[in-house]
Amino acid sequence: MAISALNKAILYTLRGDFETVWEGGLRKIDEQIPDTIEYIRDEESPQWLQLDDGLQTYHFTDSEYVSLLSGSDEFRFTIDNEQGIRAIEVPIIFSDKADDIRISQPNTESDDSKNEFRIQVEQSYDYPPVLWRTLTVSEDSRSSGIRVDVDQREPQLNRLLRSVQRLPDGKQEANTAVGLPAAVPTEEQPPIFLISVDTLRYDQHEELHSLIDELGPNAILPSEPRTQGTWTPPSHASMFTGAHPGDHGYVGYRKAPGDKRPINPSLTTIPELLAEKGYKNSALVSHSRILPEFDFGRGFHRFRHDGMGYSDWVTRDSDAKASVNQMIDWIEQDLAVRDHSLFYFLHVFDPHYPYIPPTERIDSPDIDFSRSKTFRSQVDAAKGDDWTYLDGYRNEYDLDPELVREMKEWYSLSVEYTGHQIARFLQYLKTQDLFEESLIIITGDHGEEFGERGFFSHTSLYDGNIRPFMTIKPPASESWPQKDAIDTIDFLPTIAQSVGEYSPEYSGTPIQRKSDATQRITERIYPEWYSISIEADGTKGIFTYDSNYPDRPTKDVIQQGPELEEFYVPCEVRKGNYREEEPIPEIKAKLRQIVEEFLVDKSASYDVTAEASRPSQETMEQLQNLGYK
Ligand SMILES: [Zn+2]
Repeated sequence: MAISALNKAILYTLRGDFETVWEGGLRKIDEQIPDTIEYIRDEESPQWLQLDDGLQTYHFTDSEYVSLLSGSDEFRFTIDNEQGIRAIEVPIIFSDKADDIRISQPNTESDDSKNEFRIQVEQSYDYPPVLWRTLTVSEDSRSSGIRVDVDQREPQLNRLLRSVQRLPDGKQEANTAVGLPAAVPTEEQPPIFLISVDTLRYDQHEELHSLIDELGPNAILPSEPRTQGTWTPPSHASMFTGAHPGDHGYVGYRKAPGDKRPINPSLTTIPELLAEKGYKNSALVSHSRILPEFDFGRGFHRFRHDGMGYSDWVTRDSDAKASVNQMIDWIEQDLAVRDHSLFYFLHVFDPHYPYIPPTERIDSPDIDFSRSKTFRSQVDAAKGDDWTYLDGYRNEYDLDPELVREMKEWYSLSVEYTGHQIARFLQYLKTQDLFEESLIIITGDHGEEFGERGFFSHTSLYDGNIRPFMTIKPPASESWPQKDAIDTIDFLPTIAQSVGEYSPEYSGTPIQRKSDATQRITERIYPEWYSISIEADGTKGIFTYDSNYPDRPTKDVIQQGPELEEFYVPCEVRKGNYREEEPIPEIKAKLRQIVEEFLVDKSASYDVTAEASRPSQETMEQLQNLGYK
């Protein structure tokens, strides 16, 4: 299956003090793919970069290039050095099957052997030694050729030459150690696991009993956890940066201007922070919106995307079980080197729509997989094309209750299956003596809504969505307070505190020092409306403003006030009472004041020139199949 093969490319990324002067990609793509991507032949490669025959460059936006390599296992490009380029960086992003990559620089005047870069990549990809190589261009030569040969075992592989970067003037030192640990750990720092289970509602404790049991009594189970941003992209960016969505700016893809913005480059991410402490960082993700192209690769030494497409819910090729097996493989490799200063980010997708659990979890042997598509089309038909937050707020939808019940049951079975797999992973950590001293964070990135108050999927700022399941197991040698009010933006400061790098600049608070008496703030940034939920003094207010997507509302809009104000009493909502309550005037005024102060204080958007890649057509199709329009 072509699309799935593309998604399984291993991506290695890096960050260095380089100025990107050309962004491109060199891919060998399965034959069906070019038919589905509208490539436009590009004649505008930068003048200094001359590409060989056989290397065709295409672009699909003004600034992004994809180069398609056909029928050849090697390619060459030549740099015309009139611009005084002193060094370039050649990152190779390649599939899991390439076993030998050689980079050489044959045309410089200096000693050939000195400029021969031979990169042997072992199949394990454990620290590919010099995957990212800086090639110095001889000062007197006006042009240099750089040749990259790729040997591969199988012909149908994805290979990407993603970018060629130039060192900015005055920066002669090219060894920024990109893609490799920034430091050697000076002490035995705890292994850290951040496990994100997509679409995990709070009310799934029973289904997750195997995981909870395995974590043991020292694990914190907050009763009022919160997540940010209402869906996968902003939620994960908040976890990674400890910042609210309006601050990290990665609001995801909604086919609107501003969608191409990656994570705010001025913010440090969890893997970056840990790389500075000598951690070795690995990521295994199952969703295309949290990839390195949106800056999720920063600080990782190993990054793999095993995308879960619609059919994978049936084949189970890349489900939670497969992901756990992959993680175990990596840990086996890593333990040969060290048993500390290791960070793993695992993102599993099984509970997400289409909800289909593994067949062994369903009693009926003739399960009708198409039921979830029927459910989706009923939801889509009920909502209509131009649905917005205010439509959800105003309408209750009349769906087949039996179908809704069935989908909820499938969902819970998928959650249970995922819980079992993570429990199996925890058991494995115990067999390796890694469990006790590890910091383990397990969280939903958001919940899921089955029509409560007119919302489906992961959409609103109500409990079904922003109160996920969450649990945190501190290292056994530390005693952390049991806290109820933990937010996903607390993860970065918590991890920072654990490795002695806490900074008060973070929006979140380390769990180690947390008090429960905090205001809860969650943002929803969409093209049509901006909504923000404020919880304080036992009351929750949701304020909806005109959107200034992808940023927070403008000062004028904030001054004019919200389009809609909603007030709830969370403890009543817990009893199933979703009725709006008019709070006493003092509390109402206080919530309004909190939201205005938060917005006015932070309304300035961040300025970023770098833009993330636009999702490819196949990514868009996959997203559509998963219910994203
Ligand atoms: Zn998600």
